[in-house]
Amino acid sequence: MSKELENINDKDKDEIDSKEKDIPNNSIEENKNSQIDEKQAIEEPSENKEEEKKEKAVIIEAQAYKTIILYASRYANKSIPKEDWKEIYGVLIGHTDENLVYVKRAEALTFGHATDVQLDERHYVFIEEIEDKLYKENNNQFIVGWFHSHPGLNLFFSYIDLINHLGFQGKNSDAIGLVFDHELLGKKKLEKVEGTDHKITKYETGFEIYRINDITMDVNSPEFDNNYHSVDYIVKGLNKFFFANVLSELSALVSAGKPLQSAYGEDFTLESNLSSNIENKDKKDTENIANQKEFGDFKSDILEEIPKDNDISFNGEELFYGEKKEEFNHIKIKEENAEKLVYQGNEAFKQNDVFQGVEKYRNAIDAYQYIGNSQRILDLLKSVSEYCISSNHLILAEEFTDKLLKLSEKENQPFYEGEAKYLLGYLLLKQEQNELIREALAKIQDAAVIFEKVEDYVGAAICFHKIGKFYQSQLENFESSCLFYKEAIKNYNKAIIKSHPLRQAMWSKTETLIQKILDLKETIEELLPKLKDFKIKKMVKENLENLEYNF
Ligand SMILES: [Zn+2]
Repeated sequence: MSKELENINDKDKDEIDSKEKDIPNNSIEENKNSQIDEKQAIEEPSENKEEEKKEKAVIIEAQAYKTIILYASRYANKSIPKEDWKEIYGVLIGHTDENLVYVKRAEALTFGHATDVQLDERHYVFIEEIEDKLYKENNNQFIVGWFHSHPGLNLFFSYIDLINHLGFQGKNSDAIGLVFDHELLGKKKLEKVEGTDHKITKYETGFEIYRINDITMDVNSPEFDNNYHSVDYIVKGLNKFFFANVLSELSALVSAGKPLQSAYGEDFTLESNLSSNIENKDKKDTENIANQKEFGDFKSDILEEIPKDNDISFNGEELFYGEKKEEFNHIKIKEENAEKLVYQGNEAFKQNDVFQGVEKYRNAIDAYQYIGNSQRILDLLKSVSEYCISSNHLILAEEFTDKLLKLSEKENQPFYEGEAKYLLGYLLLKQEQNELIREALAKIQDAAVIFEKVEDYVGAAICFHKIGKFYQSQLENFESSCLFYKEAIKNYNKAIIKSHPLRQAMWSKTETLIQKILDLKETIEELLPKLKDFKIKKMVKENLENLEYNF
């Protein structure tokens, strides 16, 4: 048993080590376009100030932001010649309250335009369809605005953008228009902190949100071109894993030859039909060929790499003013404090001060409970469970793993549910009591099934691997051992093509996965002669021979 557990401990340490290298990079830039600000300042009479204050700022969920990044990157990235970059369009879905517009998700509509294109009948048909769907779902969600990309063109509203936006803001005065340029994403900039000698590093989100100043202005008026301003926003749920996850998802989709993000109504299969069905047939075929070529050629360096420096901080205070500022700062300060606690917790664990580490994590989790960010809580529960396990504080580990399981079930987060079951099974095995073995292995197998379902093949493989190893070294049941190893190989093999965004990045390395497969194959070959059950022997052999390896 001890060797087995050592190995797992190594794995935990590896995971924790790799996490420590993920330094927070959740800094968001307020992308104020100073030119526009100046114009506004000049053009807007002072009596409008009151009105401007009431304007609703925007909270955009990281998930929606991710959709925009992935979809825009599908048609404009480093592997496509710049002259072939295309703009993409879509709608933003969410709700509003007295002070704010909340963007919950983004729905991509169409693509394929080299320059600004006025939204037409086809787009409005899609928009209506989406509106109908949202109405029927009755979740108080509706279209709060639209987005489009300016690949390499920088951020502004063109004349046509303004015309398009009138369609949205004319119906709903809170409607917003988001413009994204992937070339700006992650660009680093040092900024002086006012009144000090300090400088902070900021990263561009690569987008800006706009509204029209005066929707009644004549579109032929010479001032119409400047009839817009940028709106304050915040990206909710950006944490240190966000960009790493987006990048790992991009590389997984690319290596599987899948479109980076599908559009509304778009039905793609892996090999064909990569383009949207609103394009005409001929165009579609050429698009397909072009797309396949594009996807075959590029690797994970599609986006500017987001650096992971230590000295990045989030400057939330500047973002908002008036009443909104109070509300935002409140959340922002809570969040900053929570992250500080996490940092201190990690430091404590590093110095083997487990109780201090646990204490800091508990406080951070409480803070996130207050903020209502359950995604981050799940993440923290997983980390603290792993820290406790690797430092052999099993009772604490069980407490946090139990919480992780309950919350993941409540929030319907199967990835974390799988993690919790795996850890609980592992903890039971650690107790080295015969009567617990069956329950422990069943928990780990449950985890494997969940991981397979959410296409976290690495997760599934680790579970099957673990069970197989236990059968081999503890129970000396080589038949079962070979069967589980075989399942582990199958899943490691699938993981080469598709990685799960929440799984640690080190597991998406092809070399790591191939090595695991080769090691397991060798182990099976050593075990096969010991197998007494001829049927199983034959089946395992045949299964491995017939498996199509992805390397
Ligand atoms: Zn535009």
